Amino acid sequence: MAESTTSPAHSRCLLTVHAHPDDESEFGAPTVARYHQEGARTVLVCCTDGGSGRVRNPEFGAVGDQTDMVQIRRQELKEAAAIVGYDVVVRLDYPDSGSVNLKERSPTCFARIPLEGPVSRLVEVIRRERPQVIVTYPDDQRVYPHPDHWRAHEVALAAFDAAGSSEAYPAAGEPWQPLKLYYTFTSRERRHVINDKYMALGMDAPFTAREGAGLQGRGDPELAPSEARVTTRVDVAAFAHIWVEAMRVHRCQITPALAETLSVPPEAVPDIYGVDEYILARDLTQDDDGSPVAEVDLYARVDLDG
Ligand SMILES: [Zn+2]
Repeated sequence: MAESTTSPAHSRCLLTVHAHPDDESEFGAPTVARYHQEGARTVLVCCTDGGSGRVRNPEFGAVGDQTDMVQIRRQELKEAAAIVGYDVVVRLDYPDSGSVNLKERSPTCFARIPLEGPVSRLVEVIRRERPQVIVTYPDDQRVYPHPDHWRAHEVALAAFDAAGSSEAYPAAGEPWQPLKLYYTFTSRERRHVINDKYMALGMDAPFTAREGAGLQGRGDPELAPSEARVTTRVDVAAFAHIWVEAMRVHRCQITPALAETLSVPPEAVPDIYGVDEYILARDLTQDDDGSPVAEVDLYARVDLDG
């Protein structure tokens, strides 16, 4: 599913690759909101249908079967993407592979099917939308080792590398080479800072090792990559409230612990969530001086006329 669009030449396009409905809100939503407001075209690719997610909100009520769950998550995704400021939502709708600890997975789920199918579909989206910058999950996912997140990472990297080649996936459109690929994450050190800020407000720390707390990546800070890996810090103080508002839309996924996290006083939100961290993982920009450290802009060195 994709809205038909024509990208104007010489304009910014930002494409994010996420695994499930709600990940687009959890990871880097304020950054997308900021670039959207600055005029970038923003494209979300959601790889799975979220159908294996269970209702985590005790106040949500009963949901029938997996088909009903897919419909609920589809609706929540639509609402959240509008809040974040996505211009286009592309749902690949692969079957959700189920929870992290599942012993057996369906051979048709996103994490088990051959890579080539989803890569060719993402290449097609990239060639149609022509993003300069792509964002996905990091190469270190110990803090939330969901197989769909790992698969989304693999698909995004393979598609980034293939999209510009006329020999790869010739049926998927005219080649287009994105210039940068970033990993969205929250470093160990930043998790501790955020925890401290919540505790100073008399609230529970959001990043902990406790049972169920690892949902959507809010797990043990010690398992997260160090801030030594951060190449890029984007100032999103003016958009930090988007994180709270978009997360609230995924009502079926709001555990009591997450409800507490989202009840943070609005005036505290810019201070707590005012920076999004990134790792620059692929960089094909010109005039690179060889040290990408201390970027504050995902479009640093991206020449739209080049
Ligand atoms: Zn997810």
